[in-house]
Amino acid sequence: NKSLIEKAARMIKDSAKVMVLTGAGISTESGIPDFRSPNTGLWENIDPMEALSTAVLYNDPNKFYKEGFQMLLSMTNAEPNKGHLVLAEMERLGYIKGIITQNIDNLHHKAGSKYILEVHGNTREGSCLDCGEIVGLNVLEGKINKGEIPPKCEKCGGLLRPNVVFFGDMLPEDFNIAWEEIDDCDLLIVIGSSLSVSPVNYLPQKAKKLIIINVGPTMMDNHGDIVIREKSGMVLEEIFKELTKN
Ligand code: NAD
Ligand code: ZN
Repeated sequence: NKSLIEKAARMIKDSAKVMVLTGAGISTESGIPDFRSPNTGLWENIDPMEALSTAVLYNDPNKFYKEGFQMLLSMTNAEPNKGHLVLAEMERLGYIKGIITQNIDNLHHKAGSKYILEVHGNTREGSCLDCGEIVGLNVLEGKINKGEIPPKCEKCGGLLRPNVVFFGDMLPEDFNIAWEEIDDCDLLIVIGSSLSVSPVNYLPQKAKKLIIINVGPTMMDNHGDIVIREKSGMVLEEIFKELTKN
């Protein structure tokens, strides 16, 4: 819808500080399924709420490394799509300050964005549950490929885990920074999130102005100043054209 795109571009230009909040939906066009759209292959036979939980990680690490961990690894080969690339360009040109992401797929980094707050962790690193030693996720992967399931810390023998936030985990410091970033921001643009995961879904409630770009409904649609129900890659590309024309 042309007029919504124009309105959104105008709102971005009129705002001194703009932050973006992304969710799994921005990465579906890179082939990574989200959790809540119907018919998504990857999680079809596995419940992510369970497979990616601290309960399974601590009580049944073998199951965790055979199921949940494989889902995480499957994300690491994906490439950024138009949506990620446009956001990196919008940051470079000063239209947005940065990105708060619930995603763990590393695609904002791969697209070249600089200021990224990963409120649910990432799939680059893991750490030891006992001594806190940080290692690359590839170290965990290498150990598993050699049959070391579950993988153990070289320093102390403790259980290694991915630095991804699971159901039951505390949020990392990035969430506190995100919380403060929203306080003095004029506009938050939510992209590809159903906004059903707490406490991240409190962020849009604090925003002075809100744009939502999401295929399906979100928990905050009635608070949105502009709600665009279309795929984020195409919408972001059109907004960018509108921002940079003449
Ligand atoms: P969600 O699955 O709850 O919601 C995704 C939303 O994106 C849906 O409402 C859907 O309608 C919409 N969507 C799908 N494709 C779209 C597109 N091309 N353009 C615009 N919208 C589109 O996702 P969430 O709110 O991020 O919550 C899921 C949680 O699971 C997150 O906390 C995240 O950590 C994790 N997760 C991450 C990834 C990833 O890193 N790529 C993937 C799946 C789940
Ligand atoms: Zn250790």
